Amino acid sequence: MKKTYHVNEKGYYGTFGGAYIPEMLYPNVEELRQQYLDIMYEESFQKEFKQLLKDYVGRPSPLFYAERLSAKYNTKIYLKREDLNHTGAHKVNNTIGQILMAKRLGKTRIIAETGAGQHGVATATVCALMGMECIVYMGEIDISRQAPNVARMKMLGAEVRAAKSGSRTLKDATNEAIRDWISNPVNTHYIIGSVVGPHPYPDMVARFQAVISEEIEWQLQEKEGRSYPDHVIACVGGGSNAAGAFYQYLDDERVNLIAVEAAGKGIHSGESAATSVLGEDGIIHGSRTLLMQTKDGQITEPYSISAGLDYPGVGPMHAHLYDSKRAEFISITDDEAMTAGLELSQLEGIIPAIETSHALAIFDTRKFKEDEIIVLNLSGRGDKDLNTYIDYFKL
Ligand SMILES: *Cc1c(COP(=O)(O)O)cnc(C)c1O
Repeated sequence: MKKTYHVNEKGYYGTFGGAYIPEMLYPNVEELRQQYLDIMYEESFQKEFKQLLKDYVGRPSPLFYAERLSAKYNTKIYLKREDLNHTGAHKVNNTIGQILMAKRLGKTRIIAETGAGQHGVATATVCALMGMECIVYMGEIDISRQAPNVARMKMLGAEVRAAKSGSRTLKDATNEAIRDWISNPVNTHYIIGSVVGPHPYPDMVARFQAVISEEIEWQLQEKEGRSYPDHVIACVGGGSNAAGAFYQYLDDERVNLIAVEAAGKGIHSGESAATSVLGEDGIIHGSRTLLMQTKDGQITEPYSISAGLDYPGVGPMHAHLYDSKRAEFISITDDEAMTAGLELSQLEGIIPAIETSHALAIFDTRKFKEDEIIVLNLSGRGDKDLNTYIDYFKL
């Protein structure tokens, strides 16, 4: 059998993945598992999905040759412009897919978890589009530090519910969303925002995000006369934008995959989100993966200046890419990321999300050859981060 980095029939990537869920959740997850592939690949589903990606999200997103950035680092850098999508990041590719899935499954009520609020906004957006009830769980701390996104969700008609337990951040919001789903198994679909959670979520979300690398293939063919780059670079929080940018190349070993994590104030500073380096085997939110934990298995609080990378685990696909050494993993500190964000702004006129700035920072530490073709997934725009940039650089 040919070696593959895709999920197997049981929902595992190597030893990672699976569905470790309470019995009460089994009917929901099992219903989804049995139906997701059939539904996704129905002709009418594909037609509606593609139409919305085109007319509502604004796809295809451009593949932009960054001439001044390339000249500075003496290599060939293309930026995949997910920042130009409606709502400003890649997350909407997945929420469009999942809202269509929810409709086909006959669900009328949507729940979601959010940390920085980006996934909450993308979910509230598609719920407004489809006229569905939307409840977003968010940690109490995150609600107070991400006020503009809370306002956006409310403006879009969603209800934002505060998670008041634990550290009152993303993982607690996720716990609340799971609790809600257990209590509302029949009419509710849970839209998870990254390639995390029990099988089939990581695979389903990766397939929705795969549109990113499907476009890169034909865009590179047009520009370079070949459909694959030498390197694909993406930042990793849970791992969905990376999964989408890697997807078509997972089993193509001509392509080097580079995943960039947040080292916060330094990998070993105690304030970091470098999950694969620091993480160990464990179970979080329904799947077996690498996660940051204490000796007795309690989840450690992650830290990053970027709210989107501030998650104590990575999805099981990425745990396997790390473990098998299929992908290179690099950690970037807050300071390195902020500097790279400012540099892209001034070299190319594009202000990136701070998550994306982590990916951009690798050009200072990892050298590439002059004739190599690199695609960096520009996962989101920096509008939401302006205040953080302003404070940091005293602009
Ligand atoms: C949420 C987010 C991320 C991190 O999530 P992934 O699932 O790892 O992609 C990265 N970049 C942006 C702009 C985001 O909004």
